[in-house]
Amino acid sequence: MTLQRMRADFQPRCNAGSHSAYPMVPVHLFGRVGPDSYSFAGFACEQRGCTRYYNITNGYFDIVDNQIKGSAHQELCPLCGSPMYIESFEPGGRVVREFRCPQFGCRSSRDMRVQRS
Ligand SMILES: [Zn+2]
Ligand SMILES: [Zn+2]
Repeated sequence: MTLQRMRADFQPRCNAGSHSAYPMVPVHLFGRVGPDSYSFAGFACEQRGCTRYYNITNGYFDIVDNQIKGSAHQELCPLCGSPMYIESFEPGGRVVREFRCPQFGCRSSRDMRVQRS
């Protein structure tokens, strides 16, 4: 699997582990399953050793040994059901993640704030 950068108008942040909210970079993923190759646009975390990716279709997921693994936790848009991405991170007494819908036409309609201790 190789990666190629692409343009995008939004920047999700990684939701993995202790470096949560690390900015992700737009990439194009190319993979191969048997004789079939595939590619799709997504985002990759640049933190060393992190396997977390995001795209509009699958939300957050991991790629380990060129295999896509489902992610354990995914916030879905309350309006259209799309997997949302983390847009901002406000350090402080409590961790605040702001989730945003990636769908064009829906993304500006509502933000959902999720607070975790
Ligand atoms: Zn990461
Ligand atoms: Zn939506």
